[in-house]
Amino acid sequence: MTTKIEFELFITPLSQFHIGTGFGMGKFIDKTTSRDKLGAIYIPGSTIKGKAKYFGRQIAMSLGVDYCRDNQPCKGKPCAICKTFGSPLHQGKFFFSDAKIDKRLIKVLRKEEQENPAISMRFLLSTRTGTKIDRRTGTVQEDYLFTTESGMRGIKLTSKIYGRGNDFTFSDEKRIPFELLLLKNSLKLITHLGGGSSRGFGRVKLDIGKIYINGEEVDE
Ligand SMILES: [Zn+2]
Repeated sequence: MTTKIEFELFITPLSQFHIGTGFGMGKFIDKTTSRDKLGAIYIPGSTIKGKAKYFGRQIAMSLGVDYCRDNQPCKGKPCAICKTFGSPLHQGKFFFSDAKIDKRLIKVLRKEEQENPAISMRFLLSTRTGTKIDRRTGTVQEDYLFTTESGMRGIKLTSKIYGRGNDFTFSDEKRIPFELLLLKNSLKLITHLGGGSSRGFGRVKLDIGKIYINGEEVDE
C-alpha cells in the first residue's frame, strides 16, 4: 500500500537571508536573491532539502546507520539517506515545495504598490553593499564592490513537504516510519539557510506543522 505523508514547514528568518541565483555580471558582483513570478522572494525546496540531507547524514552517523557519500551515491539498494532525501541515482521519498511568502501578504503589498509605487515588492528586500576581501592577502579589493540583495527578517515562508512510497520502514507498532523521523530530526537541526552565514545572514527558525499520514493527523 502506498503511504502518503504531508506536512508544512514554516521558516522564519531571524536575520536577513540570501539565496543566490548564480547571476552576476563581470567584476560587479550582483548577488540577487531568488524570486518567483510575482517578484516575491522564496527559498527553493532544493536548498532546504540539501541542508536537511547534510544533517540527516550526521544523525545517521550518530546512530551508526550506514550511508553513502555525495561523491559515491548508492547504486543498488539505497541507504537511509538516499531513500529519504534522494540522490542523483535514486528518487527520494520526500518532495519539498519552494518556501514562499503567504499569498495574502503579497496581495496586500501589490495593492499598496499600485497606489504608491515607492512601496514595491522590494519592500521585502534590503540591499547592502560590501567589499570583497582577498583571502590570500587579507586586503580589500576595491573593484569588487558588490551589493547583496537579501530577504528581510521576520517574514514567514512556508514550504509543503510530501512523502510518497510503498516501502517506508515501519517498525512494530510505530505509526511514524523511520524515514519521516530522520527527516523531522534533520529539519530540527537547521539553524541557517542560504549564503553569508559568516556575515550573520540566513539565521532561521523552523517549525513543523501538523503531520498527516494517509490523511490522518499523527501525534507522537
Ligand atoms: Zn545512499
